[in-house]
Amino acid sequence: MSELLLNHLSGRAQAGTGPGTALHDPVLGTELARVDATGLDLAAGFAFAREQAGPALRALTYAQRGALLAAVGKVLQANRDRYYEISTANSGTVKNDTAVDVDGGIYTLGTYAKLGEGLGERKHLLDGEMVRLGKDPAFQSQHVLLPTRGVALFINAFNFPSWGLWEKAGPALLSGVPVIVKPATATAWLTQRMVQDVVEAGILPPGALSVVCGSSAGLMDQLQPFDVVSFTGSAETAAIIRSHPAVARGSVRVNIEADSINSAVLLPDAGSESLDLFVKEVAREMTQKSGQKCTAIRRAFVPSDLYDAAAQAIAARLAKTTVGNPRNETVRMGALVSRGQLAAVRGGLAELQQHTEVLHDGSQQALVDADPAVACCMAPTLLGARDPDGNPVVHDLEVFGPVATLMPYRDAAHAFALVRRGQGSLVASLYGSDAGALSAAALELADSHGRVHVISPDVAATQTGHGNVMPQSLHGGPGRAGGGEELGGLRALNFYHRRAAVQASTGVLQNLAA
Ligand code: NAP
Repeated sequence: MSELLLNHLSGRAQAGTGPGTALHDPVLGTELARVDATGLDLAAGFAFAREQAGPALRALTYAQRGALLAAVGKVLQANRDRYYEISTANSGTVKNDTAVDVDGGIYTLGTYAKLGEGLGERKHLLDGEMVRLGKDPAFQSQHVLLPTRGVALFINAFNFPSWGLWEKAGPALLSGVPVIVKPATATAWLTQRMVQDVVEAGILPPGALSVVCGSSAGLMDQLQPFDVVSFTGSAETAAIIRSHPAVARGSVRVNIEADSINSAVLLPDAGSESLDLFVKEVAREMTQKSGQKCTAIRRAFVPSDLYDAAAQAIAARLAKTTVGNPRNETVRMGALVSRGQLAAVRGGLAELQQHTEVLHDGSQQALVDADPAVACCMAPTLLGARDPDGNPVVHDLEVFGPVATLMPYRDAAHAFALVRRGQGSLVASLYGSDAGALSAAALELADSHGRVHVISPDVAATQTGHGNVMPQSLHGGPGRAGGGEELGGLRALNFYHRRAAVQASTGVLQNLAA
């Protein structure tokens, strides 16, 4: 039987008492390890984090906690080769895709370490300036931010077992809030291993970072009023989290990152250079991490006279993508994470195909070094919808794999209306060369997106990528995308702090700034 991965809770390693759930290699089909959370005393684990780790973290300044994050980053860096191996085995990713997850996580942590240094030797934050409450200048109001005295529970998705942990844990730990992470079962190994390495390095106070692998049963029941929960995953599970009695009873703060039908728009009169950039980005977004990115382009919009040219150019790029076993150096795109996901993506693609034409057919492509009967690999497929107005499914169905739909539009207003049919997305990207038209379009779409990524020829070489989440910028989206807000530099700390107004004499308030 394969190795049973340990949970880390109450400041110690703990094995589940059940037989466990097997994790598999999605390319070879072999069993890699098992996870199990049966029999854990979750109440004791949450209490330990709240009562032991919370005070220990809050006793430190932001700069000291930033230094802890930097030390955690060093541990991760030292074990990076092992994380690449685990990622290839358990997520089926090629090296470049592993980098997005592993190195992206380390980079994000490093960014929060530096932000902590910048906040300096203080234990609370001021929010805004003192404000007079009446005519008397001696009695004023000052808003303050204090770390919440609870636990941050992260329930994470399968696609980013590293980055998904650190992009949340960086801001939480910097804020002084202990973390309990429950990774998605299919790819839990990398999260488990990273937490284990960090815990064993003894950098953080005991209980500051815990991992529970396997079933989520009972986790939400532990939540108390000053805890927070940050969820990434499907809209269905998000609805369960939001309506959980512990959340409703204790006003537990919830952050949700759910599914999102992200767009890319080639603006009217964008020019051939912008068309090339658009084509490149759409093809890259479809294939990076096999399309298993919450931010990936799902809908691509072009002026109607460029529909055929864009379709051919994207298809030509996709045809060059070698798909199969990530251990083969010639392979550019690895696997989906599981047979379940492969079935879900195939099912979603079949449904979309009932409403679209196929512009590039991935099902015809042979896999490299992988058995199609076993490997969870599929080549990218580009679909097209010539009548996007009368086609609700293409704006509504998220296929979480290497699939996107190309659509023509009449004019800019039509394009923006079509983009908005996604009902709120994580990101939209715009392609063009006229700075005025690009900035107007960005403002037009900003209210329904967490991020608008604008690509013009002058930033072709330096732009950070449509789907790449940078810690300096907001990650999240309104409406269907879950309504969450993560990252965005110091803005991320708000979620882990409580805001209060202190009304007092100017002299008292001046002490708060010290
Ligand atoms: P999921 O089924 O909702 O699972 C997400 C997480 O929730 C997993 O850790 C899962 O654990 C856990 N979970 C499942 N049922 C639960 C319950 N009743 N109570 C508490 N936790 C529960 O999502 P998925 O299908 O694995 O994830 C893929 C989806 O995530 C995609 O469709 C994508 O739209 C979305 N996603 C969004 C973002 C974003 O940032 N917006 C990022 C990545 C993915 P188990 O694994 O043990 O079931």
